[in-house]
Amino acid sequence: MQKYRLFAPGPVPVPEEVSLQMARPIIHHRTKAFEAVVAQVKEDLKWLYQTQKDVITLASSGTGAMESAITNTLNAGDKVIVVDGGKFGERWWKIAQAYGLEVDILKVEWGNPVDPKEVEKKLAQGGYKAVLVQASESSTGTYHPIEELAKLTRNREDCLLIVDAISALGAVNLPFDAWGIDIMVAGSQKALALPPGLAFIALSDKAWKMAESCKTKKFYFDLKREKKNLEQNTTAFTPAITLVIGLAESLKSMKKEGLENLFARHARLAKATQEAMKALGLKLYSKSPVNSLTAACVPEGIDGGKVTKLMESKFNMTIAGGQDAAKGKIFRIAHLGYFDDLDIVTVVAAIEGTLAELGYKFEMGQGVGAAMKVLWGK
Ligand SMILES: *Cc1c(COP(=O)(O)O)cnc(C)c1O
Repeated sequence: MQKYRLFAPGPVPVPEEVSLQMARPIIHHRTKAFEAVVAQVKEDLKWLYQTQKDVITLASSGTGAMESAITNTLNAGDKVIVVDGGKFGERWWKIAQAYGLEVDILKVEWGNPVDPKEVEKKLAQGGYKAVLVQASESSTGTYHPIEELAKLTRNREDCLLIVDAISALGAVNLPFDAWGIDIMVAGSQKALALPPGLAFIALSDKAWKMAESCKTKKFYFDLKREKKNLEQNTTAFTPAITLVIGLAESLKSMKKEGLENLFARHARLAKATQEAMKALGLKLYSKSPVNSLTAACVPEGIDGGKVTKLMESKFNMTIAGGQDAAKGKIFRIAHLGYFDDLDIVTVVAAIEGTLAELGYKFEMGQGVGAAMKVLWGK
């Protein structure tokens, strides 16, 4: 017998209490009972987003919210800047191009954060309607400087900062109102520790104003309609009832922990993982590592594909490999959502066991020891 252990940056493990809530008999969505759940979730999502604005919940994966960010505020022909520092940056421009936007791709070398000065230079040319970026680029484990980017856009009347915070919300501090972010999207299967299937989106006043004049055709992902419904604690169509009930439970436990503790826990687990990798002689892939996941370079002479495969067969554990430019070169360990100190010690131990079997020379226990020192050392 071997327990299954999930350490991929989405989907992530779901807490037992959340699963239990979702296992209860289904209720109808046009009931007082479900309206009360929606009302609760509405308040708690505002808390998590650190905003006074309503946060809309959609029944889709995160990409649905990314698409709706574009289709509800931007029009074909609009000029936008897309920060492309990985797979998810690429997704932004693919969606934007699908809707006929004029995309100016700001290529960032994988593993690097975007330099706000580069964005500033482009913005100075004028005419841009939006800057699209990831808070956490999950393919490289990189944090992009959102606060600095918001400083560039928030005083421009007709240019939005659109942030994909799918693997960041709930793991790193992204105060929506205080920083002046215009649109922020998130997904259920990341730091919210739920199964996949829900996406979230909030819009600033500036973004809602652009939504008023937006001509792009859409039907299901019509945020104005969803907003009106949300004001009545309901949804336009059948919501993902079970997941919303799970969400209420997940937000409840996040609130109990508190925002500051939530971010501090993610920072601590990130630090322990990073130090463990370095102690094993592995380089971090990112120059600006995000607190939600750690991307480590596979040692010279070892095929990265073998690391993830062996983790699976030897330990029944899923971590993520690299994609495209990073394929075979990195592995990625998630620590966003339902993870604690001992989870990190466990995953590092499994990495050590795997690397040893693949012939990598190092002193066993060095990574685990480094993690333990971060977590429990004086
Ligand atoms: C997981 C993720 C997504 C969304 O993916 P879906 O599969 O559509 O949920 C988008 N952006 C980032 C940064 C992600 O980590």
